[in-house]
Amino acid sequence: MSALAERLGPLRCQLPGRDTELPLAAPESEAALVELIQEASAGGLKVLPIGNGTRLGGVFGAPADLLLSTRALSGVVAYEPGDGTVTALAGTTMSDLAGAVAVGGHRLTPDVPRPREATLGGVIADGLSGGDRLRFGPTRHHVLGMRVLSSDGEITKTGGRLVKNVTGFELHRLYAGSGGSLCLILEASLRLFAAPAARACATFTCSSLEAALDIAERLSAPPLEPTAVYLSRKESSWSLIASLDGRSERVERERALVEERTQGAAWCEGADADALYTTARDEAPRETEASALRISVRPSRVQQVLHLLLRHSPNSAPYVHPLAGTVEVITDVDSALCAELRALGASVRVRGAADPGAAGASALEGRLKKAVDPHGIFCGEA
Ligand SMILES: Cc1cc2nc3c(=O)[nH]c(=O)nc-3n(C[C@H](O)[C@H](O)[C@H](O)COP(=O)(O)OP(=O)(O)OC[C@H]3O[C@@H](n4cnc5c(N)ncnc54)[C@H](O)[C@@H]3O)c2cc1C
Repeated sequence: MSALAERLGPLRCQLPGRDTELPLAAPESEAALVELIQEASAGGLKVLPIGNGTRLGGVFGAPADLLLSTRALSGVVAYEPGDGTVTALAGTTMSDLAGAVAVGGHRLTPDVPRPREATLGGVIADGLSGGDRLRFGPTRHHVLGMRVLSSDGEITKTGGRLVKNVTGFELHRLYAGSGGSLCLILEASLRLFAAPAARACATFTCSSLEAALDIAERLSAPPLEPTAVYLSRKESSWSLIASLDGRSERVERERALVEERTQGAAWCEGADADALYTTARDEAPRETEASALRISVRPSRVQQVLHLLLRHSPNSAPYVHPLAGTVEVITDVDSALCAELRALGASVRVRGAADPGAAGASALEGRLKKAVDPHGIFCGEA
């Protein structure tokens, strides 16, 4: 370990659930990354691939010996405006990537909270979809291909850079969401969408959760297709923000539908709507030392989930996508609460604490992990 520790230099990083800081390397070339992985692998060291390290609550207590960051490997590799695709290195921040494709009239999905901090590799490995999943679907569907580094130091490609059929298994769909447990993502290609020409946001301030969720449901029926709907608690009231965007005629048409189906919307447009949307998106709780839960549930059960959470932590501030059925909340982690949430059919990911009811990997997942990373070098969130 000492030769490797020398190579890594003075950088250290605190991993949630670990007492001591771990050595961190952020190589500036892929060749250096390959060498480090090979050396770690030969020495039987556990490696956690990271981007900017802003969302490591899911790897609480991971048995890592060192962290390998892609943050110094950033930049757009290929942008094909005609094809609507972009390929970038894993350490590229989502805001840099969004800026690069905006030049050609495209938008990037997922539209993640605090995109200046999140790297492309971190977002894809985390496997979350943005608030815009309502309209565009999950991130995994837009990942066209990847280049990844395996634990034996081999670089392999899966999928392609363009929107067309590629032969072979779509291993990039497996790696999307693998949380640093199977490989280190070096580069990814994404499908893009047309940038919106207009945006309007409706804000509803409701005195009860039920009233807010009733409005959310009215916004969910076709042909209305909001890009994102955010729900949050503001002291004694609930605030629901719906973002409509696209071509001007579409936004006008959808706005008329919202007016028809609801009452009490406060509207803003253009730059004001962009600012409101960004603020609502970036309210996602920061992963700090506090523990948190990420809950996914059928949208029809969001109300029950929120009531349970508020009974448990009356002062908590859940960050909710009511129509996608996801809730992020900073709270202490209680086994009875997790069990009750799971009894509602919710998928519960504990962040920044040990999971009291973790099911563990299935036998199939175990075999898959063994096949992809035979010596168990990568120790991310499975
Ligand atoms: C509370 C909160 C809620 C969020 N909600 C959403 C959401 O709903 N939708 C959304 O799209 N985004 C969401 N994000 C943003 C985004 O998913 C994360 O912020 C992003 O993953 C962090 O980027 P990072 O570079 O700091 O990743 P890190 O914190 O460094 O890593 C995150 C995970 O990915 C793994 N990882 C990182 N890089 C690599 C790599 N190159 N190869 C393999 N594994 C890697 C790590 O091991 C770790 O498990 C949210 C962020 C926060 C803080």
